[in-house]
Amino acid sequence: MKSFSVATRSRSAFVNITDEVAKAVRDSGVKEGLAVVFVPHTTAGVTINENADPCVREDIVEHLNRAVPDDAEYTHCEGNSPAHVKASMMGSSVTVIVSGGRLALGTWQGIYLAEFDGPRTRNVFVEVR
Ligand code: ZN
Repeated sequence: MKSFSVATRSRSAFVNITDEVAKAVRDSGVKEGLAVVFVPHTTAGVTINENADPCVREDIVEHLNRAVPDDAEYTHCEGNSPAHVKASMMGSSVTVIVSGGRLALGTWQGIYLAEFDGPRTRNVFVEVR
């Protein structure tokens, strides 16, 4: 398993981790297989979406914030339930096909760490087989 860390800079943010995942695939030597990208956190997730227009990520964060408002009622006493809910909406892993030693992502796809309770340092695990 490969791993790397990501320092997030704001409370909610999508951080492009595609290059780090691609490096893990190259370092693995696997030519045909699967890459599982796993985030071992409960208030951050991982997702695949557009890598071209950063407005798309801003729209996603904005609409997640509208769907899961900070000022709603929650019972979790730590006070960060919105971050837990949004992390589960994104999920904690993505799987990408590896073909010819490369991630078989679409032209407009990137892999994003989705931070919802930052800023902090997050870990990302990548298993390639
Ligand atoms: Zn919590």
